[in-house]
Order: sequence, then C-alpha cells, then structure tokens
Amino acid sequence: AVPLVVAINTSMAARNGMLVRDRIAMEQARNLDTVVFDKTGTLTAGEQGVVDVATVDGWTEDDVLTLAAAVEGDSEHMIAQAIREAARDRGVSIPDVRGFEALEGRGVRATVETGAGPAPISPSTSAASESESESETETGAADDEEDRTIVSVGGPNLLRHLEVEPDESLSAFADEAGSRGQGVVYLLREDEAVGALALADVIREESYEAIESLQSMGIEVAMLTGDTEDVARAVAEELGIDTTFAEVLPEDKDEKILELQRQNKLVAMVGDGVNDAPALTRADVGIAIGSGTDVAVESADVVLVENDPRDVGRLVRLSAKSYRKMQ
Ligand code: ADP
Ligand code: MG
Repeated sequence: AVPLVVAINTSMAARNGMLVRDRIAMEQARNLDTVVFDKTGTLTAGEQGVVDVATVDGWTEDDVLTLAAAVEGDSEHMIAQAIREAARDRGVSIPDVRGFEALEGRGVRATVETGAGPAPISPSTSAASESESESETETGAADDEEDRTIVSVGGPNLLRHLEVEPDESLSAFADEAGSRGQGVVYLLREDEAVGALALADVIREESYEAIESLQSMGIEVAMLTGDTEDVARAVAEELGIDTTFAEVLPEDKDEKILELQRQNKLVAMVGDGVNDAPALTRADVGIAIGSGTDVAVESADVVLVENDPRDVGRLVRLSAKSYRKMQ
C-alpha cells in the first residue's frame, strides 16, 4: 500500500503544478546536492535579444535600430525578430522599404526611400551596388535613384562578402561582444558600416530567483549546454552559476551527470529537450520543464507543469516538508 503521507504529498505536488512520475525521486529531492540546468529553453527563452547597439559618428542608436528594423521587416530570421522587437521597445517609427532580399546565410538587404540615416546621402556609386547591379533594377525606376539608399543588415560574413571594413569603434564593439559570447550584426548604408548590434540569449525572468533559492538552500547549481564556452560563461555569470559544462554534445550530456554522481553527489537534472532525455534518466531526480518535448517528459521523474524553473526549489521544499514527517 502507498503510505498515506506519500499520497498526500503527490496530491500536494499536483496542486503546485508538479506531476510526480516517480515517488522515490520525489523523496530524494530533499537531499539534493546539485541541480544541473539545461540552458536553452530552460534558463533562457530560446530566443535572441538585442543587448547593445554601437554607431559611427553622427548616428544615434535609434537611427541604427530604425533602419535595421526597416530592412528586417520581411525576414523570418530569429535575428530579424530580435531587431524588430528592440525597435518596437524604443517606439521608433519604421520607414517603408522596397526590394527586400534575403541574402541566404549572410543577412538581408532592401532599398529605403530618402532620409536613410542622419547624414546627407551621397549618390550611390558604391562597390556594393555595382557588384549586385541586377537587383537594383527591380528596386525602382532610375528617375529618382539619388533619393534611394541600399541598406543591409548582416553578420561578419556579409561584410567579408562585400569587402567592407567596419571602422575602429565598430570593430572594438564587435570584439568585446564576441568575447561575451554575443553575436554581432552590422547595419550598412550602401557600402559603409554605420552601426552594429549585439545579440544575446534572452534569460527568462524566473531563472534568477530559481537559482538563488536553490543556492540559499545550500544546493550547488550547474548549467549544461551544447553552446560555446563564451556563451555559457556569459549566461552563467549573469545568473550567478558557478559550474558550467559547455560544448557538450547531446550524447554526452548524461556523462556529465554521471561525473557528478561519481563525486558522491545526489544530482537533479532539469531540461526540456530530446537531447536532455538521457541526462534526465541518469539523474537521481530528473525534472522536465512543462513546455518540454514528450521524450523529456517520458524520461523525467517529475514534470513542472507550469514551465517555471522556480518550481525546482518548491519541489525541494515540498519534499523536505513531506518526508520529514515519515521518519
Ligand atoms: P544560423 O541558422 O546559424 O543563424 P544562418 O544561415 O541563418 O545561420 O545565418 C548565418 C549568419 O548570417 C547569422 O549568424 C547572421 O550573422 C547572418 N544573418 C542571416 N540572416 C540574417 C538576418 N535576417 N539579419 C541579420 N543577419 C543575418
Ligand atoms: Mg533545451
């Protein structure tokens, strides 16, 4: 028979948005030494956001965001969504563009009517428009060509392709962002880089509290990701996580859990993806976050139905409260 206190405990858990699939794991949660979080989709939203903007002299951040958002208007790319959202947040009004083109794997380009940026527009005799002259014919008639400007947004690979050198200030900005694991895209007016935008993982608001509450209970928090060391370090520093495992291949995630267990630690793993399933199975307490894939849910001992990482701490407290009574 199921002890009464256990039955009460699981129904209490259910009321708190936790689906307990394995009662023994639920009981062990009160003794956890280490909680390992998957990064993407668990601690971060799995999206990118614009975290920094740089400009050349004479341009404001709003100028750069406005034009970049205009050119990205029709792109589905995650980078485009981040730029449009950043522009929306600033409340700038976005000019219309013509002749939008996705430059596969490099960026986007479009033609903007007059007023593209603060400085007077020089007639377009750029290397960029020469080498891509076919596309210009479709962007409009030649009569008022001087009032139009080709504007592009793209990564370092677009600059290389167009043989454009960013000025010193933009290069320094890009180096610094890169060292923090952030991606950089540039805004080009004709063949001049006039701004740069740094993009980073969007950290979920709940993650800060989730980690702090576990640490305040004396539990070590670690983060596991397939992303680069730079990206991992930036997110871990932001969240106050001491231990990170970066550049971990999907098939090696469970090895990291085993390593911790070999150090005599009782380990929980929190994840959402198919990639996380073996690690969830390996962990003493496997915790799937609610939005997770079926495979993650099937591999977990507890499912956090509300998709809230703060529920990990609540789970530990609930386990401690319930099972103390049994002894
Ligand atoms: P990934 O899927 O790795 O982002 P893509 O082929 O989509 O690869 O893009 C490669 C790079 O090209 C991006 O990292 C970025 O630098 C640039 N890029 C692609 N699309 C865009 C876009 N819409 N806006 C800005 N930069 C872009
Ligand atoms: Mg994930």
